[in-house]
Amino acid sequence: MNTSKEHALELFPRDVDALIAEIGLPAFAGKQVIDWIYKKQVTSVDEMTNISKEKRLLLEERLFFRRSKCLKTQKASDGTIKKLLSWDTGEKQTEAVMIPAKGRYTACVSSQVGCPVKCTFCASGIGGLEGSLDVGQIVEQVMALGANDITNIVFMGMGEPLSNYTAVTRAIRILNAPWGLGIGARKITVSTVGLPVAIEKLANFDIPVTLALSLHAPNDELRKELIPWARFSPIEDILKACSNYFDATGREITLEYLLLGGVNDRTAQAKELVGLCKTLRCNVNLIRYNEVAELDYVRPKTEQVRRFQEVLVKAGVNTHIRASRGRDISAACGQLKREYNQITTE
Ligand code: SF4
Repeated sequence: MNTSKEHALELFPRDVDALIAEIGLPAFAGKQVIDWIYKKQVTSVDEMTNISKEKRLLLEERLFFRRSKCLKTQKASDGTIKKLLSWDTGEKQTEAVMIPAKGRYTACVSSQVGCPVKCTFCASGIGGLEGSLDVGQIVEQVMALGANDITNIVFMGMGEPLSNYTAVTRAIRILNAPWGLGIGARKITVSTVGLPVAIEKLANFDIPVTLALSLHAPNDELRKELIPWARFSPIEDILKACSNYFDATGREITLEYLLLGGVNDRTAQAKELVGLCKTLRCNVNLIRYNEVAELDYVRPKTEQVRRFQEVLVKAGVNTHIRASRGRDISAACGQLKREYNQITTE
């Protein structure tokens, strides 16, 4: 990659306007170039046929369109598509997933390479953090999944999105803008393990996205065992920040609760979770664990999942069991990357 060039997928209209003024194109060409980038999703300047050949050559010197290579694509029998993308030299790899469901096409994107949080149940966290993705790399994942079809975006791939706050929020602007991909704020979800200061900052961000908190345990003691970063912030502080997020945006918080067999799926733990749910406007998403070869956790039994849900529902908590998608491919986040690299280094 020529580093003197800019990634087209991180440009705002004002950046394009400045660029075309510099190379001597008329002001109206700014909108044309933005359309080529985000609406028509060209992958080269050469495709911008309403711009003269001479000016295209000048633009070519300043822009590039893609920096990822797709190393592997997996397609599950339920239509879920998972892509392993490598960046630049190939050492940095992330996963992006497209999940189709009832007329919705959800892109699950990564915000970092690896993850600094190192949750004990997660394949993405095993190697720790290898780097953060920039704005263009985040937007590019949506393009790789077929941007025109995508209706929803969730930041639930590799990484902790709020620890890459600036790039993630700038990418959200592009994904949300009418001149960009035009995806509504309600259809964009940022999922976090809970960084209170960053949640408060996001509450003041002018695009009120859906906030999902990866809670996974009903008390601090167990949470610290599962999520190492839980030692930085007690649940009480995180829920307070989430409450403030609701007050500022009017958006109900989604509490994500990954059910790990025999660890956090007991009825008593469901009752404890009810207590937390009563402190804020929220709904609960129960997720059944997908096994990861190197880790000892097991998928909870269907019966236990139902019992857990029943406790919440009886207490008046809006609770859903998230359908397991892509079970016949490497469904857990970070798993495809690990499998691919094990195979190619064997
Ligand atoms: S579950 Fe999320 S926050 Fe935890 S290690 Fe995996 S990617 Fe990071």
